[in-house]
Amino acid sequence: MKIAIYPGTFDPITNGHLDILERALRLFDKVIITIARNPSKNPLFTEVERLAMIREALQTYKGVEVDAFDGLLVEYARKKGATAVVRGLRAISDFEYELQMALMNRRLNDDLVTVFLMPNEKYTYLNSSIVREIARHHGDVRDFVPPSVLERLHEKIRHASPT
Ligand code: ADP
Repeated sequence: MKIAIYPGTFDPITNGHLDILERALRLFDKVIITIARNPSKNPLFTEVERLAMIREALQTYKGVEVDAFDGLLVEYARKKGATAVVRGLRAISDFEYELQMALMNRRLNDDLVTVFLMPNEKYTYLNSSIVREIARHHGDVRDFVPPSVLERLHEKIRHASPT
C-alpha cells in the first residue's frame, strides 16, 4: 500500500488544495492530508475548524485520511508508514522554499520522497491568504473554495466585523 502525506496549513482549504489532492490520489493508495501545527503562524481558523472544513470538503473522497501533527514531518511520515510527501507547485515563487524543504527532508530521511504536483492553471494564482483577504473585504470567493468553507468564512468575517 503506497501512502503519501499532504501537509499544509489549510487556513482554509481551497479548490487548489483539492486539485492537488485529487492528483495525488491517482498516484497513491492513501493520502493523509494533515495540518502542520506551526506555532509561528497565526491562523484565521482554529485547528478544529480547519479539520472540520477539510472533512466536510472530502466527504465523497475515497482513500483519504485527515489528521494534524506536531514536530518533524519525517518522523510523522515514518509513524504513518508513508513513503512520499506531496506538495503543490504553483509558480516559481514556490520553488525556492519547496526545494529547501524537500532537500532538507531528504537529508533527514532519504527514504521519504517529495513529489511536486502542478494544479490546473486556474488555481496557479490561488492561495489561502488571498482568499482570506478577499473575504475580509466582502469579495466573492465562491469559485475558489468548497461550499463548507464559504459558509464558515462568511461567519468568521461577520464575527470579526459586526457592522
Ligand atoms: P504551507 O503553509 O505548508 O504552505 P498551505 O496550506 O499554504 O500550507 O499549502 C499546502 C500545500 O498546498 C503547499 O504545497 C502549497 O504549495 C500547496 N498549495 C496551496 N495552494 C495551492 C494551489 N492553489 N495550487 C496548488 N498547490 C497549492
